[in-house]
Amino acid sequence: TYVVTDACIRCKYMDCVEVCPVDCFYEGENMLVINPNECIDCGVCEPECPAEAILPDTENGLESWMELNRKYAEEW
Ligand code: SF4
Repeated sequence: TYVVTDACIRCKYMDCVEVCPVDCFYEGENMLVINPNECIDCGVCEPECPAEAILPDTENGLESWMELNRKYAEEW
């Protein structure tokens, strides 16, 4: 799954939302998040993000962001 990180905060671009084939972006507090249960890992959103805020969850040190993405997505 892919995960949205702090570079998204206050970013006003929604390019990622538009390209996602399964519409799994949701609005969290100050940022967008990806619902890890819905993301199909296609990767098309990653290069669309002008803030480079979207990373694959295979990167190190993303645990707290993964938790936040899940939390905000589940609040919907
Ligand atoms: Fe959507 Fe694909 Fe990005 Fe997952 S990797 S959030 S399915 S565009």
